[in-house]
Amino acid sequence: MAVPVHEQKVQAVVAPAVPFILRPQPAVDCAKEKCVALTFDDGPGRYTERLLDQLKKENARATFYLLGQNAPLYPQTLRRMVSEGHQLGNHTFDHKSLTALSKAQVSEEVNASAQKIKDIAGFAPDTMRPPYGARNPEVDSLINVPMVLWDVDTLDWKHHDPKQTVKIALDEVSDGSIILMHDIHESSVKAVPQLISKLKHKGYKLVTVNELFSDQDFVGSKTYARRA
Ligand SMILES: [Zn+2]
Repeated sequence: MAVPVHEQKVQAVVAPAVPFILRPQPAVDCAKEKCVALTFDDGPGRYTERLLDQLKKENARATFYLLGQNAPLYPQTLRRMVSEGHQLGNHTFDHKSLTALSKAQVSEEVNASAQKIKDIAGFAPDTMRPPYGARNPEVDSLINVPMVLWDVDTLDWKHHDPKQTVKIALDEVSDGSIILMHDIHESSVKAVPQLISKLKHKGYKLVTVNELFSDQDFVGSKTYARRA
């Protein structure tokens, strides 16, 4: 989806770069504490602000795998994510399966999204998640940031049931898990308050992906589905 030139100019005016110093430092040591990373894909969308309200209330951090085509629709939401300590990740420009594309197209999908997010947030995402988790050695070789998959799939996009989302997450979570959800669905956002409260009750700290791997080897062209 092309963004009109006049809109890009407006963004440039209202979207000052976020100084690096404002980015939060890891506050949780996942080598000593039970950690879990909540990840939300395919947004931002119309329910993302509500999700940010819930995360703020619970003092929980999350990671958002954003689509480049959606980012310019919610510039304030992206900046709010940054200022409230969440992590921005790259989920490609418009959610194509990268294994079906040429090398040039893979680079375009990833770079166009990174640029859109950088235009708004002030920096490009430092991790990415391939749509559908679809990857192969050729795709891997083109991605110069860590590729973050998941070990707990709530299937929230399929059943649209907050109770089911909470149940699957709690049944499958373990120390170091990465939980996959989608903030473009209202039912997924509705699951979050109870999910966070139950995870906290089980002793989990809710961290960003970078925090989860802050003391580990975490490099480009490699995939990560949970903390080792
Ligand atoms: Zn996705």
